[in-house]
Amino acid sequence: MISPHRQTRWPLSASLVLIAGIVALAQEKSSQDALAPATRDARISTAIQQISAERIRANIEKLVSFGTRSTISAQDPASIAARRGIGAAREWIKSEFERYSKDCGGCLEVKTDSFTEPAADRIPQPTEITNVYAVLKGTGAENAKRIVLVTGHYDSRNSDTLNVKDDAPGANDDGSGTAVSLECARVLSKLKFPATIIFLTVAGEEQGLNGSHHFANMAKEQGWNIEAVLNNDIVGGDKSAEQDHSIVRVFSEGIPAAATEQEVRRIRGLGGENDSASRQLARYIDDVGSTYNTGVKPMLVFRLDRYLRGGDHSSFNQQGFTAVRFTEFREDFHHQHQNVRTENGIEYGDLAKFVDYDYVARVARLNAASLASLASAPALPANVHLLTKDLENDSTLTWETSPGSLGYEILWRATTSPEWEHVQKVGNVLRTTLKLSKDNVIFAVRAVDADGHRSLPVVPLPER
Ligand SMILES: [Zn+2]
Repeated sequence: MISPHRQTRWPLSASLVLIAGIVALAQEKSSQDALAPATRDARISTAIQQISAERIRANIEKLVSFGTRSTISAQDPASIAARRGIGAAREWIKSEFERYSKDCGGCLEVKTDSFTEPAADRIPQPTEITNVYAVLKGTGAENAKRIVLVTGHYDSRNSDTLNVKDDAPGANDDGSGTAVSLECARVLSKLKFPATIIFLTVAGEEQGLNGSHHFANMAKEQGWNIEAVLNNDIVGGDKSAEQDHSIVRVFSEGIPAAATEQEVRRIRGLGGENDSASRQLARYIDDVGSTYNTGVKPMLVFRLDRYLRGGDHSSFNQQGFTAVRFTEFREDFHHQHQNVRTENGIEYGDLAKFVDYDYVARVARLNAASLASLASAPALPANVHLLTKDLENDSTLTWETSPGSLGYEILWRATTSPEWEHVQKVGNVLRTTLKLSKDNVIFAVRAVDADGHRSLPVVPLPER
């Protein structure tokens, strides 16, 4: 455990002895307290190695082959037969999910979520939009109600959001994210998990996040317990000179979009700007990145999204769900939202040849390992509270039982630290007191099962 920094002046010789003592103590303490990556689950390690860059290449090339996947492009039977337009892309994605399901004895339920979007800025006339998804139902009686979800958008665009005539290959944006959802479904459907995993592909992103907006609304209205949403948008690792193929950015919101006035007041008062549930998910993904050999390192970015850009994770955030966005390290804006052409020697357009399929496979491995870890873990501890009735220097935390957990761990860090720094195992109890001042640190509680699977950490609410 760490105590608040204290500075005292000592004579040099005494200082050296003292320093040696402190170093020894710190080393001993750090072995007790320092955070270690989660225990590796051999099933998950094996599963993620089956993610194939070759399969991802075939899937992205197939998506590009539909010419345009603009949400307002053709989707009538003739266009589907001619294999051009969003309707043809939708039917193909559905058939892929169905094929994976056949290979696992019907383990996936393949579904569509269709609705008519009224005319708007980027939608000249009322348009049917269809999200396609596959559900890998959890095996746990209670835990199957918990959902973790991965998504990408299968629609595309070129320079003009209203142009359905010219090609809009959308290999990176977001053929890559669609391929991540598909490949995670193919590989993870061979396993069983206590919690449910949904593999989603949405449309309407480029017209105004319409598909994800509808899906998140539906989930909220129907009371789905979605614990985590991983949105992959532009994870193609565009082969530009300054690309770093070993890093993927993970964006997360700070103050939750769905926070009430009262919640915002509490966040402001207690310094909770850095502790949204989405940010805990980002830190969790970082932990997964240290545990499993994915070949790509998550770089956490503490903001909702990039400048001037948005994405489907924000539709989920707005409904109060925990959601993050994965995006390649460096984007090449010549290869996004552009008509395919060459001007002054510069090639424009989101073409398959700019995608690094090995990179997409690495990002898919990080996604699959995160989904599998979350779906294997016990539920988040419920009603986590920090007792603040009296002025005192100790900190007492309470919580409610999480089904399937063997025990609980308390995490904490300095208020200035971006990531969790310390952990204390507290066993199978629902209350603990630490010799640490709640005024100086941020706490969280997580549940752990017999195999070492960890739930997302939950930051306590103050209770008087
Ligand atoms: Zn996109």
